[in-house]
Amino acid sequence: MKSLRLISGLLAALCVIASAVSCSRNSSEELLAQKPLPLHHLPDGHFRNTDTSVAPIRDTMEADSLVPTYRTKMYRLPIVRGNENLWEDSSASTATWIGHATYYIKLKDFGILADPIFSDRASPVQFLFGPKRGTPPGRDLDSLPRVDLVLISHDHYDHLDRGSIKDIHKKWPHCIYAVPLKIAEILENWGIPKSQILELDWWEEATVQKVHLTFVPAHHTSRRGAFASSRNSTLWGGWIIEFGEKKLWFAGDIAMGDGSYYKAIAQKFAPIDVSFLPIGSYKPSRYTRVHVSPRQAAQLHLLVNSRQSLAMHWGTFSMVYDRLEDPPKDLARARKELGIPDSSFRAPQFGEIVPLFP
Ligand SMILES: [Zn+2]
Repeated sequence: MKSLRLISGLLAALCVIASAVSCSRNSSEELLAQKPLPLHHLPDGHFRNTDTSVAPIRDTMEADSLVPTYRTKMYRLPIVRGNENLWEDSSASTATWIGHATYYIKLKDFGILADPIFSDRASPVQFLFGPKRGTPPGRDLDSLPRVDLVLISHDHYDHLDRGSIKDIHKKWPHCIYAVPLKIAEILENWGIPKSQILELDWWEEATVQKVHLTFVPAHHTSRRGAFASSRNSTLWGGWIIEFGEKKLWFAGDIAMGDGSYYKAIAQKFAPIDVSFLPIGSYKPSRYTRVHVSPRQAAQLHLLVNSRQSLAMHWGTFSMVYDRLEDPPKDLARARKELGIPDSSFRAPQFGEIVPLFP
């Protein structure tokens, strides 16, 4: 009887402790729930641009983007070779345009791949549909000296490519992946270990070996799925890469919005040593609701006081209605009008190895 009383007493005590634990958990959950969400987070877990009231193009653009893919054959540009010795030189820093928004950035002996797409199509179904690339990748994945870090700007198929991520993981199994909020799960499903993925919100920071990263805002969208619910269900943005005293900005895929996101980036980081800025997919002008024109890219170059800017997001996939020659021509015109020296904001050729911090 005595022992029974003892057991029931112990059980009662355990219940009190358990309820205290659940109570403290509840109160911390309540506290978290009370904490206001950042403006770009919606209560249903989706994200939004907060810098302007202009709605992004939605279904029109997604339907449109299937239309001009037959022009792929016209999207064929030369691939260049040269400067390979800089890849072998561990004291040299370089950027190599692979195509579209894919840059291979070598900071001395540290290798970064930004928005890698080496596949034939920007599509979930490679053999079936989706924009097909005209020019093959400027460099093969196998030819790159080393990849320590992959940066992803957002989940659109032309920036986050399953085949490329899987190939990178196979070749460099210890590579780290820095991604926007809610994209880690996609990579985990492709076999990337959780421990190798850094998932960041706007203005969050992380250090990966020799570089310090800040995930910065961008005016854009996301969508990766047939259902409308996948629209803006993962975050988008750009990356500031600090390497010693040097600062690089990989802008990702961006529209100007009201410009306040980029003013904030300039305030915190200008002058930027190297900016990677998109210059394609802006015609007709309704597409500047999700992309920047070359002129706007040139304005951003000035805004962040960029010492060296390199163009991207053009000449690879026929996605909207720019003609192949439009982006570099319009960039040249903008440089002239805005008084930017030609050498400060170049559109490198496919495969070109550009020395950084000259
Ligand atoms: Zn995009």
